[in-house]
Amino acid sequence: MDRTLSILKPDAVKLDLTGRINTYIENSGLKIIAQKMLSLTEKQAASFYHIHQERPFFIELVKFMTSGPVIVQVLFGKDAVSKYRAIMGDTDPKQAAKGTIRGDLASDISENRVHGSDSIDNANKEIAFFFAEYQLL
Ligand code: UDP
Ligand code: MG
Repeated sequence: MDRTLSILKPDAVKLDLTGRINTYIENSGLKIIAQKMLSLTEKQAASFYHIHQERPFFIELVKFMTSGPVIVQVLFGKDAVSKYRAIMGDTDPKQAAKGTIRGDLASDISENRVHGSDSIDNANKEIAFFFAEYQLL
């Protein structure tokens, strides 16, 4: 069993897609074991996505991630990191399979509704970033 960090991005919250996204998560067998709504500061968004800081889309990405509240979640279950990546679908919704969150609920690569950690190591770092208070558990 492992844990992964999920973010329902500002577009998902704005468009009232959070309930539908949670249904994909719950149907996959993953458990939402923590979640909270918050607004990222520019500093937090830039720090969270620092690996992309040299990419051409970085400024737009930070602007988008700070454009409204997000819901950050910790998901728990068997192979949580790879399972969530699979149900999210490809980064580009146009490439994402039907039946995935991005394939069904998104159309634009820059507003693709969800974030999911890409490795167990990054999941642990990202969970600590948002849920430092839970590290004592
Ligand atoms: N992104 C973008 N344009 C691109 C590639 C990525 O706007 O050409 C954004 C998109 O929101 C993506 C995020 O940057 O989800 C992080 O990119 P990454 O390659 O890590 O994709 P992910 O892990 O989210 O699938
Ligand atoms: Mg990524």
